[in-house]
Amino acid sequence: MNPLTENDIRASFVNCSKGEARRLGLPRDLSESPWTDLDFLGWRDPGAPERAYLVAERDGRAVGVALRPAQEVRRSFTKSTLCSVCVTPHSGTGVALFTAPRTGAAGRQGNTVGAYMCADLACSLYVRDKKRTELGTRFESLTVEERIVRAAANLDGFLERVLDGDLK
Ligand SMILES: [Zn+2]
Repeated sequence: MNPLTENDIRASFVNCSKGEARRLGLPRDLSESPWTDLDFLGWRDPGAPERAYLVAERDGRAVGVALRPAQEVRRSFTKSTLCSVCVTPHSGTGVALFTAPRTGAAGRQGNTVGAYMCADLACSLYVRDKKRTELGTRFESLTVEERIVRAAANLDGFLERVLDGDLK
């Protein structure tokens, strides 16, 4: 994706207040982000790890989504859990349930959507084999290109549910 500035990121949020977008903690060093390997920028607020954010490019514009990792983590030490975006299997707490308030009227009524995603939101790096999980090599025959396309489609499906008719 194209590198984003702090202003781009703060202006991109669609499902939180302008105040929260102004105050939220950005990744510590944006210039260090591996932009060329990212399909979206995802991070935990360095000052508030119970808050997470992702910014993706959609139709040429940056769309930022505020997320809340669910307090209850699905802990399983025997089975692996798949990220619903990049389809990377993780064990233990490697996958977290994130919820996002929906935009518009639905969001004002407290409506949220949820998705199990890599707890570190580093999907882009997992699909490119730049980051490995504790489970090691993935067992699938898709090429990196195919995984990137699949992850982009899955992320788009999630954003679609967050936006629900807005900003289309
Ligand atoms: Zn993932």
